[in-house]
Amino acid sequence: MPPPTRYDLDRDGWSELLAGEQRFRLEQVWNGLYHQGRDLADLTTLSGPLRERLAEAAPLALTEVTRSVSDGGDTVKFLWELQGGARVETVLMHYADRSTVCVSTQAGCAMACSFCATGQAGFERHLGVGEIVEQLARARAVAAEGPTPRRVSNVVFMGMGEPLANYDATWTAIRRIHGDMEIGARHLTVSTVGLVPGILRMAAEDLPVGLAVSLHAADDELRDELVPINRKYPLDVLMAACQDYVDATHRRLSFEWAMIDGVNDRFVDAERLARLARPLRAHVNLIPLNPTPGYAVRGSSGNRVRAFRGELERLGVNVTVRDTRGTEIDAACGQLRAGHEATAVARPRRRSAT
Ligand code: SAH
Repeated sequence: MPPPTRYDLDRDGWSELLAGEQRFRLEQVWNGLYHQGRDLADLTTLSGPLRERLAEAAPLALTEVTRSVSDGGDTVKFLWELQGGARVETVLMHYADRSTVCVSTQAGCAMACSFCATGQAGFERHLGVGEIVEQLARARAVAAEGPTPRRVSNVVFMGMGEPLANYDATWTAIRRIHGDMEIGARHLTVSTVGLVPGILRMAAEDLPVGLAVSLHAADDELRDELVPINRKYPLDVLMAACQDYVDATHRRLSFEWAMIDGVNDRFVDAERLARLARPLRAHVNLIPLNPTPGYAVRGSSGNRVRAFRGELERLGVNVTVRDTRGTEIDAACGQLRAGHEATAVARPRRRSAT
C-alpha cells in the first residue's frame, strides 16, 4: 500500500497526524482544506515547520500538467499526473445556475466502448480515494478564485474510467464528498456503462445518488457492438437492475445516448429507446457524438438530433440534448485524453436508415 495522500486522510487520519499538537490545530487544518479549499502551504496560522511536516506526511496526489480553458472561461480542463506516471483529467463547468465538476475514477478504462477515447486507449489502473477526492478539492479551489468566485454545487462521475469497476474507492470518495465536502446526494451522479452488480450494490447503499446509464443502443445486437459489456449484462438484466435502483432510491434515472450518424439515430431506435425509458420514467440525455481518433463514424447532424428528440417527446419520453462543452479543448464527453495516444481506427458497421 502506498502511503496515504492528502485527501486519503479523513478527520481521524488528520487527528492522528496532529497528535501532540494543540487540539484546535485539527480544526484549522480541516477547515482550511475542506471548507476554505486552501492549500496547506497557505494555512499561515500554522507554524512553517508544522506545515512542512504535514505536507511531507500527506503529500498531494495530483501534479497539474496542463490546464485548458474554453467557453469564455466557463469550462476548465485539468490534466493531472498521478504517482507512477498515469494521467487523468477533470473538467470544471460553470453554468448559469450551477457549477459541476466531472471526475475520473480510473486511468484509462477496460470497458472498450468503441466510440469513447478513453476506451480506445485501454486500462491503466484504478484511482484511489484520495486521487478522486483531490480532483474535486483542486477544481473547487480554482472555481473559488478570481473576480467572480463560484461554488461547486454538483459532482458527476463521468470522467475517465468506469466508476462501478472501481466500486470501493468510488463509493468511499462519494461518502467523503457528501460528508466532508457537503455536496448533497441529489447533486452527485454516477455514470455507468451498466455494470449490474455495481448498480445493485449502489441500490443497497444509504445514499441515494443520481444514476446515469450509458445506454446508446436499445437492442442487444447494436449494444453488444457499441458497449461490449452488454454481452455480459444484456438489456433485460440491465433494465431490471435499473428498476431496482429506482425502487430503492426514488431517484430519477437517466439514460445517456451518444448520437451516432446512421448507427443509433433512426426512428426505430427512438421507438426502442422509448419502450425502455417509459416504464422506468427515465430521462434521456442525448449527447452529440464527439469525434475521437479511433472511431471512423460521425456524429448525427443537428437536424437529426432535433428530429430524434422530437420523436422521443412524441412518444412521451423526457429528453434533453446535452450541450457540448469543451469540445475545442478535448474536454467533451468521451473525448478525454483524445490525442494523447494514437489508436487504431475501428470501423463500426453502419446501419441503413429506416
Ligand atoms: N464509464 C462511465 C463514465 C464515463 S463516460 C460510463 O460509461 O457511463 C461519460 C459518458 O460519455 C458516457 O455516457 C459515455 O458513453 C459518453 N461518451 C463516451 N464517448 C463519447 C463520445 N465520443 N461522444 C459522446 N459521448 C461519449
